[in-house]
Amino acid sequence: MTYGKFAEVVLDIPLNKKFHYNIPPSFVNQVEIGKRVKVPFGRRTVVGYCVGLTNISDVKTLKDIIHVIDTTPILSSKMLAVAEWMANFYFCGLGEALESFLPSVVKKGIKSRTINVIRLCKDGISVKEMIFTIKKRAPIQVRVLEALAEVGEITFPELADISKCKMDSVNRLRDRGFITLDKVEVSDPLFAGKHFKKTSHFSSTEEQEVAIRLIKRKVRERKHSVVLLKGVTGSGKTEVYLQAISEVITLGMKAIVLVPEISLTPQTIERFKSRFDRVAVLHSSLTERQRSDQWWDIKSGNADVVVGARSAIFAPLEDVGLIVIDEEHENTFKQDTSPRYNARDVSVVRAAYENAVVVLGSATPSLESFYNTEIGKYECVTLKNRVGHKPLPRVEVIDMRREIFGGKGQKPISDYLELSMKKCLSKKEQVLLLLNRRGFSPFISCRRCGFVLKCKRCDISLTYHKKKDAVICHYCFAEEPVPRECPDCCSPGIRFTGFGTERMEELIRARFPQYNLLRMDSDTMRGRDSHEKALSAFRRGDIDILLGTQMIAKGLDFPNVTLVGVLSADTIVNLPDFRASEKTFQLLCQVAGRTGRSAKGGKVIVQTYNPEHYSITYAATHDYDGFAKKELEYRKQLYYPPYGRLARVVLRGKKDLDVKEKASDIAEKLMNAIKLSDGSLLAGLRKDKVGVLGPAPAPIVRVKDNYRWHLIVKADSFKNLHTILKSIENENRNSKKVQMMIDVDPYMLL
Ligand SMILES: [Zn+2]
Ligand SMILES: [Zn+2]
Repeated sequence: MTYGKFAEVVLDIPLNKKFHYNIPPSFVNQVEIGKRVKVPFGRRTVVGYCVGLTNISDVKTLKDIIHVIDTTPILSSKMLAVAEWMANFYFCGLGEALESFLPSVVKKGIKSRTINVIRLCKDGISVKEMIFTIKKRAPIQVRVLEALAEVGEITFPELADISKCKMDSVNRLRDRGFITLDKVEVSDPLFAGKHFKKTSHFSSTEEQEVAIRLIKRKVRERKHSVVLLKGVTGSGKTEVYLQAISEVITLGMKAIVLVPEISLTPQTIERFKSRFDRVAVLHSSLTERQRSDQWWDIKSGNADVVVGARSAIFAPLEDVGLIVIDEEHENTFKQDTSPRYNARDVSVVRAAYENAVVVLGSATPSLESFYNTEIGKYECVTLKNRVGHKPLPRVEVIDMRREIFGGKGQKPISDYLELSMKKCLSKKEQVLLLLNRRGFSPFISCRRCGFVLKCKRCDISLTYHKKKDAVICHYCFAEEPVPRECPDCCSPGIRFTGFGTERMEELIRARFPQYNLLRMDSDTMRGRDSHEKALSAFRRGDIDILLGTQMIAKGLDFPNVTLVGVLSADTIVNLPDFRASEKTFQLLCQVAGRTGRSAKGGKVIVQTYNPEHYSITYAATHDYDGFAKKELEYRKQLYYPPYGRLARVVLRGKKDLDVKEKASDIAEKLMNAIKLSDGSLLAGLRKDKVGVLGPAPAPIVRVKDNYRWHLIVKADSFKNLHTILKSIENENRNSKKVQMMIDVDPYMLL
């Protein structure tokens, strides 16, 4: 044992371990829990977080802390507790969890950028006199003076542009005492030049009123609770959030609102800014400086409301009274790299430490949240009607199997949809078309031998992109030229089958040449605000037909959209994943919700080869409860979430055999953990409620030249799941040969 003054430090590595470091006397007053420190680790110097102080250590010789970065703790004790929970729940390192709490720009710090501002000297001689003294010798300097006489003050780049001068002319003028040069710090305020017209509460419907009253009461009680706000599309959930937040602020507390990244539009932000004065925004499309400013604003207590995407759940607010998760079912709240957390679940934990209320809002809640209301863990409040009692749109399902027989081969657009589009467009109304597959053609094969073109590095068929004239892998983004002949039999007959958005665009433009069409997918929406520009153009009516992937399914209402066409409802339903039905149902309901927002009404046409599938039939009748009941039955039979709990262990490496061996080794360890445990795990194993499925090759067996095997660990509670996973916790996850990834409560199993 060693005695002294030591700090417990965690580092950004996938190990849930605290390291002890000696606190040199000069740092004794500086080291505090929640501050970042620089410490030696191996041969490197790394940044870690001080999470505890101790006088005793079982390490013989401790290394010294090199430097204390923060003057005040950057992480509160509550946030450290949340991180601790994440590390234990998701099997990641505590340091890894903490790394995601601070935006990278806050971690690295931002240097203040200065710029030269040039002004005329006010005292002394006039500009005329200045020009007179140098007129003959220095025409460029004269131009500079003339420009300054006009604008007063100017930055150097602007001046250089106007008067075509170089810095040396400016320096000479300064030496003559004609002008001054001052360094000014560049700021980049987020809401510069924007004015937000203040709005007050909208008069709410009876249903909204019930929801608002319930949430307000919960907030006043200052007790941790979770409310599921189940409201159909267009039922005014945001107004409920706004009035609840208003109560929170009145009580002197603060609120966090999480929305999916894609819904974080200027309109969304405006709704909050127009109601509340001190709103901060955390968003990936902010500049580094803006992000840093917003974060420090929140940290120093200058924000009452934080609106942001997934990572805003870690916003450094004190006194949180309410956390809202809008569209709580969205998979964007689950992070797909370590730490693989779900912000929805983290929000419930954070709220518990803050004695705060969580409101989960959705038209199509996740089965997990719905189930929690069924067993009384969460409270549920429902908005059954749209604001203004507008009806939900009529949904018609088209059986595409019938469409084939009429003509030659597969039809991408049914006659009925085409006719409906014509009718709608002729009335100067707008059409929204969803096709959840980008590119021109998703399937490239040989006419003669049937060879299917796949990515050389992944087990995925390549997609043809016509504009780029290349075939692209949607997993590793590798691009290759289009083969002119079959790579297998050298026959020249290459066939492109299936429709992606790019091909559909071509087809619709040909059939509706007199109308404006805009395609919206990740290929056409590359720029910072291209998404926003496209939606504005659609809102203005400059575009008649909006065709896109699921990015068009969410967000705002367009009163003039009276027809929504789902070109293929089958892109998700056939995926080998237990959430495929749920995802299909949710996507159909979301996109259907884009229409019928005005007195003109609206209609939805769904094309499918699976017209009897329950996810489609229930979506067609807007029957969430019916769908949820049926889906829960299936989940119960298979003992999948929300009944059973899952973790996925993925192993990957360059050599298939190495990966397979490691996977078997891990499977054995996991099984032993069950067999050697006390009663409850063994009893679960006998009832098929606990177990290890696999190892098996992952559905996509090769990605980026890495072979992938996976295992699914199943248990009847998270507690038992964690007991099993403990047995592999200390495995080396980053070995050169085979890497291991643990995903607790995975979203997808592909
Ligand atoms: Zn061939
Ligand atoms: Zn690939």
